[in-house]
Amino acid sequence: MNTQEFIEIEDQYGAHNYHPLDVVIEKAEGVWVYDVDGKKYLDCLSAYSAVNQGHVHPEILKAMLDQAKRVTLTSRAFRNDQLPLLYKELSEMTGYEMSLPMNSGAEAVETAVKLARKWAYVVKKVPRHQAEIIVVGNNFHGRTVTIVSFSTEPSYRDDFGPFTPGFVIVNYGDAQAIEGAITPNTAAVMLEPIQGEAGVIIPPDGYLKKVSEICKKNNVLFIADEIQTGLCRTGKLFAAHYENVHADITIVGKALSGGFYPVSAVLADKSILGLFQPGEHGSTFGGNPLAAAVARASLKVLREEKLAERAAELGTYFMEQLSEIPSPHVKEVRGRGLLIAVELHTKARRFCEALKDRGILAKETHDNVIRFAPPLVIDKETIDWALPAIREVLNIP
Ligand SMILES: *Cc1c(COP(=O)(O)O)cnc(C)c1O
Repeated sequence: MNTQEFIEIEDQYGAHNYHPLDVVIEKAEGVWVYDVDGKKYLDCLSAYSAVNQGHVHPEILKAMLDQAKRVTLTSRAFRNDQLPLLYKELSEMTGYEMSLPMNSGAEAVETAVKLARKWAYVVKKVPRHQAEIIVVGNNFHGRTVTIVSFSTEPSYRDDFGPFTPGFVIVNYGDAQAIEGAITPNTAAVMLEPIQGEAGVIIPPDGYLKKVSEICKKNNVLFIADEIQTGLCRTGKLFAAHYENVHADITIVGKALSGGFYPVSAVLADKSILGLFQPGEHGSTFGGNPLAAAVARASLKVLREEKLAERAAELGTYFMEQLSEIPSPHVKEVRGRGLLIAVELHTKARRFCEALKDRGILAKETHDNVIRFAPPLVIDKETIDWALPAIREVLNIP
C-alpha cells in the first residue's frame, strides 16, 4: 500500500483529533525515519522529545526484548525485580529521594496534583478540599478533564466542561503575579520551565529562581513539569537547573522510555512522596517490569552518551546557524539546547509541508512557530545537511 491508501484508511476509520503531516512512517533509526514509499526524512520533532535517545536505540531495544521474554506485567499487587532498580537509579541521577511511576505524562501530572493536595491537607493543614494550585497561562500539561480545566487554550477546553475546580491561573513569566495569587490554601505552583507546546516560550532570566524562593517563603510546593524539557533536551538534565532550581516535585515522561513505551514518573523527596498510603493512588501498568527495564536503559543512554552536553553544544550551533538565515518570514529564533523555535510572521503549516518535501519533518506549534527538536544523538554533519533546505524553505514566497 502507498501513502495515499494508508491515509484514506486512517481518515475513514480513525478519530480526527490530530492534523498530521501526510507522511506514513514505517521504520526509523537514530535521527532518520522512512516512509512507506521509501523516502527518508530527518526527524526534527522527536515525538515531542520522547525520542531524545534517537529512534530504536539498540541498547533500549535490547533491554525491552530481554525483559519482554522474562516478565512484562506483575501489577503492583506483587513486586518485580526491575522497579526497585529504576527507583534507585532515578534517585541517583536526579537527586530526589523517591519516585512514583505512571504511564503517560498526563497521568503523572494528575499524580502530582493529587500529591500536592494530599500534602496541603496532611502537612500544611489546609481545610479539606479547599486546596488551590497556581498554574500559568498558555500551559500545556496534558489532556485529562482536570488538566484541561486549567488550560487557557480554547480548543483544549471549549466543549469539555464541567471543569475541576481548585486552580488559579496567572501570567507566565511574572513571579510577582504568583506571589500575589498565593492564599493560605495554596498547595503548589505548577509550571513548565520552558513552555514547549506554547511555542518554546522561555521565561525571563531569574523567573524560576524567584518562583522557587516565593514558594519556599510561603510554604507552597514548586512543581516543575519537565515532561518535554527534562532528560537532557535543553542541554541539562532538567531545564530548571539553568537557574539552579531543584523543584519540590519534578514530573518526567516522554524520553524516560526513549520512545519505546509510555513511562512517566513523579519525583520528590520522602517528606512529600512518602505521604501516599496504600490504596490512595495507583495504576495497573505503572511501574511494570517492562516499563522499568526500558526506563533504566533509557536513562543509561542519556548518561553514557552524555546527551545533555551534546544537546547544549549542538543546540547552540543549530540555533546560531538558524539565526543567520536571512528570511522575510522569520520573527525570532529562540531556544535552549535542542529545543528550538523559529517564530514566523505568518502561519507555519505550509513551511512545515515544504520542509517535508525536502526530507525534514518538523511540526508547527501554535500556528506561527516551527519547532526544531531533533533527537539528541544528531551530529553536526546532519545539521549542516539540513540547513540549506531550511534556508530555502524560509525563503519561499
Ligand atoms: C507531552 C506533555 C505532557 C503530556 O504527556 P502525555 O504523555 O501526552 O500525556 C504534559 N506536560 C508537558 C510539558 C508535555 O510536553
